[in-house]
Amino acid sequence: MDLTPGDSRARLRQRQRRALDRYLRSEVAPFAPFWRSRLIKAGLSGQRLQRVEDLRRLPITELAELGDGREAVLRPTDSTLLHEGPMRMRWGAAIAKVTGRGSAVNRTLVEPAYKPIQWHVHGALLVGSTSEDIETLAELGRRWLELAGVRSTDVIVSLLANGPRLPFWQLVHGARRAGIAVVPLDPAVTPAAVTAVAPNVVVGSPEVLAAVLDADEAWTGIARPTTIIPVGVGQPISADDHDRLVDLAQGGEVVDALWVEGVRTVWSSCRGGSDLHTHATAELVEVVDDDGRPARGGASGSVVWTGIGWKGTALLRLRTSVHAVLDESKCRTCGRETPRLIPVEPAPMWIAVLDDHPEVEDWIAEPGPSTLSLSVALVDGRRRRRVLDELEELLAECDGVEVAVVPKRRMARMLSSTDRASEGQ
Ligand SMILES: [Zn+2]
Repeated sequence: MDLTPGDSRARLRQRQRRALDRYLRSEVAPFAPFWRSRLIKAGLSGQRLQRVEDLRRLPITELAELGDGREAVLRPTDSTLLHEGPMRMRWGAAIAKVTGRGSAVNRTLVEPAYKPIQWHVHGALLVGSTSEDIETLAELGRRWLELAGVRSTDVIVSLLANGPRLPFWQLVHGARRAGIAVVPLDPAVTPAAVTAVAPNVVVGSPEVLAAVLDADEAWTGIARPTTIIPVGVGQPISADDHDRLVDLAQGGEVVDALWVEGVRTVWSSCRGGSDLHTHATAELVEVVDDDGRPARGGASGSVVWTGIGWKGTALLRLRTSVHAVLDESKCRTCGRETPRLIPVEPAPMWIAVLDDHPEVEDWIAEPGPSTLSLSVALVDGRRRRRVLDELEELLAECDGVEVAVVPKRRMARMLSSTDRASEGQ
């Protein structure tokens, strides 16, 4: 399945529905024991998916529930392949049965699709990729480089952690697919080893990239990279890290990327943009609130991930560590219409406690070296003791938070002085 910019939202949703429907009915449910029982319980086994939203009947899965991931791997048997598998596999299995050429069919049809040949570590979870998956990863890697504006004449130095880490492989396979030269170096090499390659593009963690770009003497007489791609692992690149790299880039473009455990691709910004583009053909990305309902009206929430069409390990409605807003409008920077994630810091729980309490009229937070002081003004000061007890109980789980009640007049002074301070900035 390919997607060109300009596909309308409705068409995109329709294509996702069809692909997801086929995937669930003819691969995930028949071949993966972990998902089979859950799909049956959710009423999603054996019947067509009418709308993409029907997938919400499947409860959200936490990464820890998958254990080492063994039960989530698609493992077709002769019988499930013949009776429930995708049509091309059923034909293959039927022909093998009639002609007795089972091993040839296995080698040319079944193994490339279903035999995991590369494993990536996602925390305690091992995610298996088959030969077909690696081609998908290569295509998503090619799109990553295209989004970042990397050109075929560029030379990339990868300083990503190698080994069983997905971003490294997506970059290397993607560069191969795009026909771009890549030099994978160990993240611990000296800046001189990087500049010896004279790269146009450097990719790595923000810390490693900052150290390399900061080594001015190593860049003497060598053109600096035109593209810098920091990859956040687990958490998005912070604004501070991004700005630091922009300073060190000396005119090169900084294009952020993010990978989180449980997700089989890197998400990345387009050149000049800051949101993270997702890949509608290979994933369904949802953002849900604390109760697991879709976050509405541009609200932020937890990102829940479903892989579409991936063999090896199947991952459905998996809660990730990312908190973000989902933007499904056209990207103002590049014009692509695939959904984008805008990562945000989750609001601390104490904000909701103070905002939701009917007796709290105003509040102000002042961070100290090891504590956060919350001053609150109450609607009715006479209920001070009781409200304070309630707030302390509600805030008991928030480490280092101290709460004090202040008179309304003092609160007004505190608020006006913070207003003045912020205006003065
Ligand atoms: Zn864009």
